[in-house]
Amino acid sequence: MSSDLLSFDDALAALLGHARPVTEVEMADLAAARGRVLASDLRSPIAIPDMDMSAMDGYAVRAAEVTPGARLRVSQRIPAGSVGHALETGTAARIFTGAPLPPGADAVVMQELCEPDGDHVTIHHVPAAGEYVRRAGGEVAKDAVVLPAGTRLGPAALGMAASVGAAQLPVRRRVRVALFSTGSELVMPGQPLPPGGVYNSNRFQLRALLEQLGCVVTDLGIVPDRFEETRRALRDASEGHDLILTSGGVSVGEEDHVKPAVESEGSLDLWKIAMKPGKPLAYGRVRAAAFIGLPGNPVSSFVTFLLMVRPFLLATQGARQTEPRALTLPAAFDWPRPDRRREFLRARIGPDGVELHGNQNSAALASTVWAEGLVDVPAGTAIARGEPVRYLPYGELLY
Ligand code: AMP
Ligand code: MG
Repeated sequence: MSSDLLSFDDALAALLGHARPVTEVEMADLAAARGRVLASDLRSPIAIPDMDMSAMDGYAVRAAEVTPGARLRVSQRIPAGSVGHALETGTAARIFTGAPLPPGADAVVMQELCEPDGDHVTIHHVPAAGEYVRRAGGEVAKDAVVLPAGTRLGPAALGMAASVGAAQLPVRRRVRVALFSTGSELVMPGQPLPPGGVYNSNRFQLRALLEQLGCVVTDLGIVPDRFEETRRALRDASEGHDLILTSGGVSVGEEDHVKPAVESEGSLDLWKIAMKPGKPLAYGRVRAAAFIGLPGNPVSSFVTFLLMVRPFLLATQGARQTEPRALTLPAAFDWPRPDRRREFLRARIGPDGVELHGNQNSAALASTVWAEGLVDVPAGTAIARGEPVRYLPYGELLY
């Protein structure tokens, strides 16, 4: 029955509503801060540049003194890292990129337009005041916020922090996640596969996704489909973790013990979400830890992680941006028979727009490897080639 299905948006909003941002803050050295979340606004204690600077190798002049073909005496030489002195009237200063302008100079003429002879230079270009000058404070004003609280520290943010002289940054502590896979059929890679066995792919997929998000992962391995073992694993996992993440066992079959086990140790809602892949998703709490149970099918657990767990973890980390930014692109496919659930199809960008992988089965991991993103197809909506679709690139989902 469709009436008992929860919409994707309602499920995500409910999940985000349960996220409790970690409050502990620690100082991280810049070199070790990649992937951490900034705990407070970073303000620049300096202006950048701190003085007017040359943006070129050339000659610093007073623009008003330069006439076409002017020949000026070169009165000083200022390499980067040195400070010159006031520019004598009617002269030029030899200057290099990144060196401060001498007081009195207001423009730089690039060396390609100048002809030096001995201690003089002929200037073949009449500059405007300010030409090739980086103004003091032009890039960053003193006391300006250069990184707001909640920024995830990637390479660009770390470069910015370093440029204002920060050696350490206040970051929220890492989110701690306990991970286990349920299923008596599961076998670890490296072991022989017995008849009916299935290699545990979710463990590696989910672990990598968690690590990519900067979480500390406690990997509890495989838990067989038995109530007591599931319950014991949950009890162990609730110690010292913000989140317990599991895969499998959240349907309502006889061998699905996650629901009763979580209920015996805490509380649980089992959601049937109107999304495909990934209909069943469990949310609950086990003591102090949040609990999320993902479906067992590898594609389903991958997609529900990206679309549900990732925003939840980003909110728990205190990140500003929790939702991926989508692109609107033309479909390079026809989708004539839509599902009544909202679908997230494995896709990538080709020359004519968004292309689909041929096998959208939620057990077939080949689609997730081939894909470079997901297409968000609204419930009950057919799509014809050339129509705009909402495309979520992996770049927005996998970092
Ligand atoms: P379940 O959600 O437990 O009913 O599992 C659904 C399907 O996913 C079954 O075919 C399982 O064998 C498979 N599956 C469950 N967990 C994993 C896992 N960790 N790795 C690979 N396949 C899995
Ligand atoms: Mg199972």
